[in-house]
Amino acid sequence: MSTFTDRADAALADPLLKIAVERTAGTAEAKRAAAIAAFPDFEAARARAAAIKDHVIAHLGAYLEEFEANAVAAGACVHWASTADEACRIVVEICKTAGARTVARSKSMLGEEIGLPHALAEAGIRRIETDLAEHIIQLADERPSHIIWPAMHKTREEVSALFKARHRSPHEEETIAAMAESARRELRMQMLGADVGISGANFLVADTGAVCTVTNEGNAELSLVPPRVHIVTAGIEKIVPSMEHAVHMLRMLARSATGAALTQYTTFYAGPKRPGDRDGPEEMHIVLVDNGRTKMREEGLADMLRCIRCGACMNHCVVFRQIGGHAYGGTYPGPMGSVLTPALDGLKQSRDLPNACTLNGKCQEVCPVRIPLPTLLRGWRERSWREGLEPASTRAGLGLWAWVACRPALYRVATGVAMRAMRLLSRGGWIARLPLAGGWTRYRDMPKPAPRSFMAQYRKERRG
Ligand code: SF4
Repeated sequence: MSTFTDRADAALADPLLKIAVERTAGTAEAKRAAAIAAFPDFEAARARAAAIKDHVIAHLGAYLEEFEANAVAAGACVHWASTADEACRIVVEICKTAGARTVARSKSMLGEEIGLPHALAEAGIRRIETDLAEHIIQLADERPSHIIWPAMHKTREEVSALFKARHRSPHEEETIAAMAESARRELRMQMLGADVGISGANFLVADTGAVCTVTNEGNAELSLVPPRVHIVTAGIEKIVPSMEHAVHMLRMLARSATGAALTQYTTFYAGPKRPGDRDGPEEMHIVLVDNGRTKMREEGLADMLRCIRCGACMNHCVVFRQIGGHAYGGTYPGPMGSVLTPALDGLKQSRDLPNACTLNGKCQEVCPVRIPLPTLLRGWRERSWREGLEPASTRAGLGLWAWVACRPALYRVATGVAMRAMRLLSRGGWIARLPLAGGWTRYRDMPKPAPRSFMAQYRKERRG
């Protein structure tokens, strides 16, 4: 489907999607609230997290060089990619040099952003997604719909049917545990037989050259340690100065993402296997990817580079909870996706996303690194207007509104007539259909206007 409106329409017409999204986002919201309430001073911790990221983004070049030097000293090989294509080429080349036929991949949104699954398929390299939700997505041949729960759009009943159709020895009992066991049976031997393990990075630690991954299933460790080669693809903004800073960010990430105090498996990888180590890869490659991040920093989107991909903004977004993640069309959905997608894919193709926001500010309220998402979204709207990307009908409508709004007497008459007309159209306090506002009333009724306008009430109060 080509437009955001088409995709959103399809999502709104899907009752199962609403159930699936509500189950996960609702639980995440409640768990996060409990975790934050139990945290001694979450606001101070948020401020510190934002300051750490701001400092790193302001000195990005120096920290990246420090990271590279320490990663190389630990035995890793560091590659630099300025575009998504270049990053994919580097990864595919390493796989080919290693003679890899099968790779085990641990969940990485950057991998999705650069189109790595597609590049591996084109190179004839078999990909095994080892994260349970990514495994579901791979079986269903779909794209992730959430950055933490990629299969959020699927109900457990749908997943059960999928496993029964695709697993060699599927579950019989209709329980989550039995379904997870079915996936484990399916994946375990495949993972252990992979030639290369590919992961993303939650953090890159400058003073040790270590790469940090967090998972709740332990699939990263199981898919990255046994193969001969470990490849990391990471956005350059993932850097933190030291382990102490990484630990602080981990505390923020886990609570904001799942409401847990700490993610089940948190691992720091510093270089490949050393002499005397019992296991580990023989080679470790780290691909540092820019893909528009430097440009974002230069073009007033530096705040967005603070993002630690926790997903809290989408779990709390009223729009996301209605339409799910696929309707956004890009790699990243929800509020953070509505800021990132225009930067990554171009504003012309994605200008609907910033416009789909209600600007209620909930995303900013819950963001652990205090990203001013509504302000950034407003910035994209302004830019879209300045660049003439809004349709002629919108420009004409707003022009007419501005002309009327600049003439207070005319404005009062016009709004008075409109209010009266709306009252006439209402039944039982609600308006089911409104001329020129069909997009609004197609999915919900509009309340009948109050008998007196705010300004009329205000004047009355003041007189009183
Ligand atoms: S924008 Fe904030 S809340 Fe949203 S994913 Fe990024 S860090 Fe989390």
